[in-house]
Amino acid sequence: MIENFYKWYSNLNKNKVQQRYSPHKPLTIIYTLAKSLKGIRWIEYNKDRVLLEDLIAEHTNFKTRPNCLHPIWRLKNDSKEIDLWQVIPTTLNVNQSGDISQSEAKSINLKAGFSDRFYNWLQEHKAEGKELIKFVISDNFPDTLSVSILNSIGLENIEFNTDRPDAVKRDPSFPRKVLQLYDYRCCFCDLKVYLNQKSLPMEAAHIRWKARGGACCETNGLALCPTHHYTLDRGLWSLNQSYEITISDKAMIDEKSDSFFRPFIGKSIASGILDKTKLPKVENIIWHQENILK
Ligand SMILES: [Zn+2]
Repeated sequence: MIENFYKWYSNLNKNKVQQRYSPHKPLTIIYTLAKSLKGIRWIEYNKDRVLLEDLIAEHTNFKTRPNCLHPIWRLKNDSKEIDLWQVIPTTLNVNQSGDISQSEAKSINLKAGFSDRFYNWLQEHKAEGKELIKFVISDNFPDTLSVSILNSIGLENIEFNTDRPDAVKRDPSFPRKVLQLYDYRCCFCDLKVYLNQKSLPMEAAHIRWKARGGACCETNGLALCPTHHYTLDRGLWSLNQSYEITISDKAMIDEKSDSFFRPFIGKSIASGILDKTKLPKVENIIWHQENILK
């Protein structure tokens, strides 16, 4: 059964919105897996719409609010070969682009979820079900975001094992190479901390996420402290093509306590790099601006 899930998942038609990868389907799957593990048979349009759309909105930077009917409905079309997703009722009025209207979904309180067989299997295999959630998260997002996604779906107590055989493969030398390049400093705030005369390592962030095809090489990496790593991945800030720090215009930072962000706006991260030939590739910066920066 678990192989069926992996096969179904890998064959999903991954939506592109305005040429940008969008995580609507993976987030809908994660949300529904969490509900199933709690013994809730269906996600209901009228009951779950706001929460699911909040979850999608939090992890996308599109100008318009997401419509969760798209992934709910389109996952059904992805299940023709492997019957893992169903929508009820089965007979609905479909429009020209193959979707159903929000007003109809509302009036019939559209329900969706996994097939009876897979749902029943999940009830008997909760540990495996949690592994599937972890797999889908790590296939789409960096580790920094896993805790907040698990919190959003009410499964904060899952332990996140970073040694995931099925997850996106990471190059183990990536952190060392990136941290050396920036002299073990956060390239945003210049923080470098010593303990017993040894510098505490900062974190190596991917500018273009590994889970979205980003390379494990210095020209796609930044050495960052945990605060600036997490906020990079959340899209609070980015770089411009002159390597200067820019903050999202949606960010609200309380002025009284802000020694973390405002003082560094406009600073070039090129000032702290030890080898200027390994500055981030512009294409990676553009990817981050277009896909992640809020
Ligand atoms: Zn920092």
